[in-house]
Amino acid sequence: DHPIHARIDGAIVMIGFGSIGRGTLPLIERHFEFDRDKLVVIEPNDKGVTELRERGVAHRQVALTPENYKAVLDEVITPGAGFVVNLSVDTSSLDLMKHCRARGVPYIDTVVEPWAGFYFDDLENAQRTNYALRQKVRDERAANPGGTTAVSCCGANPGMVSWFVKAGLLQLAEDLGAPVAVPADRDGWARLMQSLKVKGVHIAERDTQARRKPRPRDVFVNTWSVEGFIAEGFQPAELGWGTHETWFPENAHRHDTGCQSAIWLNRPGAITRVHTWCPTPGPQFGFLVTHNEAISISDYYTVGTGPNPDFRPTCHYAYHPCDDAVLSLHEMFGAGVQQTEHHILSEDEIVEGIDELGVLLFGHDRNALWYGSRLSNEETRRIAPDQNATGMQVTSAVLAGMVWALENPNAGIVETDEMDHARCLEVQTPYLGPVEAHYTDWTPLKDRWQHFPEDIDESDPWQFRNVLAS
Ligand code: NAD
Repeated sequence: DHPIHARIDGAIVMIGFGSIGRGTLPLIERHFEFDRDKLVVIEPNDKGVTELRERGVAHRQVALTPENYKAVLDEVITPGAGFVVNLSVDTSSLDLMKHCRARGVPYIDTVVEPWAGFYFDDLENAQRTNYALRQKVRDERAANPGGTTAVSCCGANPGMVSWFVKAGLLQLAEDLGAPVAVPADRDGWARLMQSLKVKGVHIAERDTQARRKPRPRDVFVNTWSVEGFIAEGFQPAELGWGTHETWFPENAHRHDTGCQSAIWLNRPGAITRVHTWCPTPGPQFGFLVTHNEAISISDYYTVGTGPNPDFRPTCHYAYHPCDDAVLSLHEMFGAGVQQTEHHILSEDEIVEGIDELGVLLFGHDRNALWYGSRLSNEETRRIAPDQNATGMQVTSAVLAGMVWALENPNAGIVETDEMDHARCLEVQTPYLGPVEAHYTDWTPLKDRWQHFPEDIDESDPWQFRNVLAS
């Protein structure tokens, strides 16, 4: 009873067969009609390649580089057809999407990834931001509008959470007694958020997945790419900067060019803590790890332009990864070196827990609304193979993004904010477990420790000054 959403003629080329690639493959097999002999995976790692061989999936064991990517891709893609699904690290999303569009091949990825080296090179911190990475993709879109669809950043977050923002806004309007028609364009969505008096959005996540065995010392344990998490955790913290903010952090910087929706802090995101809220724990600390959606959501919901528009929401990630990952970060930043051994918790070793990933829309007349997916590993194992709950939220967004791209083949370069959220969630929701809306009266001024003075603003609970933990 799994719907076939579309037929894909030509080669389906997956780049990267790590935790997300493994989980995406069975969804592609389940939901698209295609010629199996035209499926090929590009993966350099022996472990991944062994598994592909066992599954009888054609593969190329090669790492894409700036020098070889065009030649390697041209050997496997079908010009004007097929699909390229980029789920790798250390490959330039921008270069890959440009090449695919030049060949008329639809493309999707889950992050704006740079070529190997970028994250730890000797670049200025401003250049190591996701703002800089994203702006290059936006500039390419502006320079070459329309054409073959390339979906940028379509995982769980970035990705699905942008669809939750829209669903959450419609729900909020209804719950405030003033239901609205679905806005027809970006400006309509931005004005809806403004009219609902939403001041900002946390991408509020709590991952409680755990295995029985305690985390061994010197091993970085996570529920998705360790490499990806370390890389983004070591980038500067970044956030979309809302028009309601009256204070500016001392270590913050603006950007002079581009959409100017975001600022960055001169501090790694993975040790920058914020006060936030999720349904399971209630109040909690999250890490302000930089993510594309913090910038894109603030940009999309801007009324006006430039650094001082009429309205813009604050937006950032507030991530409590699984407990083993919190300990791994603590160890890594304390020691000043990365663990050499990495481990991604598999669906079979996880014995409990859920990935609770949603958007906390705050500052409005109902205070705050969390809207999101509360998917357990147990349910994930029942509904799809080869992934844990974290992976499922990502791979099902990739599936939804592919369906949307096939239905909108000439949309050009798009971000998930710009896609039809209802259609995408229709495809994705069967894989998300309970998708729920929770109101809370929590604010960042509540549940604080009384004994030490803090630099906070008691006149407006939702100031970033109160959200940022000292
Ligand atoms: P992973 O580390 O498990 O796998 C990445 C794979 O890429 C590995 O198998 C690796 O061998 C391969 N690879 C490395 N260098 C390559 C190269 N030069 N050419 C081709 N392949 C190469 O990571 P994952 O958990 O599967 O994540 C994959 C990507 O998805 C990462 O970029 C990650 O940041 C992103 N991601 C996005 C979301 C989201 O919600 N948007 C969530 C999770 C992961």
